[in-house]
Amino acid sequence: MTSAQTFESLNPATGELLASYPVHGEKEVSEAIARARTASEWWGGLSFADRRARLLAWKSYLTRNMADLASVVHAETGKPDGDAKLEIINTILHLDWAAKNAQPVLKPRRVPSGIAMMNMASSVEYHPLGVVGVIGPWNYPVFTPMGSIAYALAAGNTVVFKPSELTAGTGSWLVSSLAIVLRDLFGEDQPVLQLITGLGTTGGLLASSPGINKIAFTGSPGTARKVMAAASANLTPVLAECGGKDAMIVDADADLEAAADAAAWGSMSNAGQTCVGVERVYVVDSVYDAFVEKLTAKVAQLRPGFDDDASYGPMTLPAQASIVSRHIDDAVSRGGRPVVGGVDSVSAPYVTPVVLTGVPEDSAAVREETFGPTVTVTPVASLEDGVRLANASSYGLGSSVFTRGRAAGISAARALRAGMTSVNSVIAFAAVPSLPFGGTGESGFGRIHGADGLREFSRAKSITRQRMKPPLRTTTFRRTPADTDRLVRLITFMHGRGK
Ligand code: NAD
Repeated sequence: MTSAQTFESLNPATGELLASYPVHGEKEVSEAIARARTASEWWGGLSFADRRARLLAWKSYLTRNMADLASVVHAETGKPDGDAKLEIINTILHLDWAAKNAQPVLKPRRVPSGIAMMNMASSVEYHPLGVVGVIGPWNYPVFTPMGSIAYALAAGNTVVFKPSELTAGTGSWLVSSLAIVLRDLFGEDQPVLQLITGLGTTGGLLASSPGINKIAFTGSPGTARKVMAAASANLTPVLAECGGKDAMIVDADADLEAAADAAAWGSMSNAGQTCVGVERVYVVDSVYDAFVEKLTAKVAQLRPGFDDDASYGPMTLPAQASIVSRHIDDAVSRGGRPVVGGVDSVSAPYVTPVVLTGVPEDSAAVREETFGPTVTVTPVASLEDGVRLANASSYGLGSSVFTRGRAAGISAARALRAGMTSVNSVIAFAAVPSLPFGGTGESGFGRIHGADGLREFSRAKSITRQRMKPPLRTTTFRRTPADTDRLVRLITFMHGRGK
């Protein structure tokens, strides 16, 4: 950060200066929100079909220009180019889904009025909120904020977006790309998606503004609390997508090769900087040794770096390396045994893979979000025992189960106190656009993605129309005791006969 007026975006692998961005203050933030308000009248007034056409054109633009965007993500986060492309591909799938499903999910639909109100015709429809503020993190700087932006836009809102200060270039690319599509393909100059840049203070200005109808925040639980406090001044609703401490459970009959492969990818990819990354693995006793052997063999081959062949990149946030160090040190000092890597694995900006066994359940490496390429592996007596330990966490974001038993997999998934569970795969729920994504406890609340994600950025509008005179007088001063009596008899007949 060079001054109070600008901040720098650096390549985390090389330290190279990528660009400087303005620290937007109150004036810039409120002007952006005012422009978004005006644009929301236009955007919210378009038909579903017109918004769909524009968002699908944007999707095609992202697809055609994927390599360009991936190079910005690679430079700003340090993640391998292939991982950046995978992130963009998943974003494209979500943008496509949100654009195509906004109408079926949000359009007016008839609902039954019930026998007691049978003279009424009732319907529900979902209206845009207006202006949505999106505050994003740096670890998936395309996929994560777009989980809010795509769904908020598809629901008819305009968006003011503050990307993480570490990935302002990616945020800027995304915002410009929609402006290019609207201008070049539709001849429209409408700020439906705007960028504001800055540090936490700028995010705070967005959250505390009376002109914002909802804040979609993704980041750490500590910052979520500050965002909620700022938003509370105007009773602005908040969606909070926070961290996780996701567990994988491996049953005795699991395909161990597949489970070890998924555990390696789930824990180490993106240098472990994944909110739904695997940080804990619980393995049923009888296959524990075999699983650790397979996982160890796979993980030992991984190498961080910034080159094309690297398995994963550097720590994007330099300060994260010391948290990773603390968790490894604490685990080892309390009897944990590193079977891959160890206390020397952290050499900022890189952390080589670390697999820890025998780590006490109350240690930092098991309880706190590590956000690095480390994983703990712990034996359990049964699948149920694994679920019990997985649930003993203040977080509840994602989770995974490996078992050959179809019923056992679904029942363990249901018992896991996490927003999402993948059975015999890892993180797959994030790539299925129709599945809502979000957590519980310290992992936050509210949902992006899927129909729930569209409704998250809408307000339900209820309409009921009298289509014939009511059979009983109820809501009128002309109601008589005899009317009340008839009503009581009707309700008693309908609802008073059960045990
Ligand atoms: P962070 O909480 O440090 O910052 C997130 C964003 O909040 C940034 O844009 C930051 O500038 C802004 N911010 C900081 N202080 C603020 C304030 N007082 N008011 C308003 N905005 C403020 O998080 P991060 O380090 O960028 O991201 C990592 C965290 O995000 C991890 O905990 C990770 O698990 C979580 N995450 C969650 C999801 C999910 O979908 N659940 C996805 C990705 C990342």
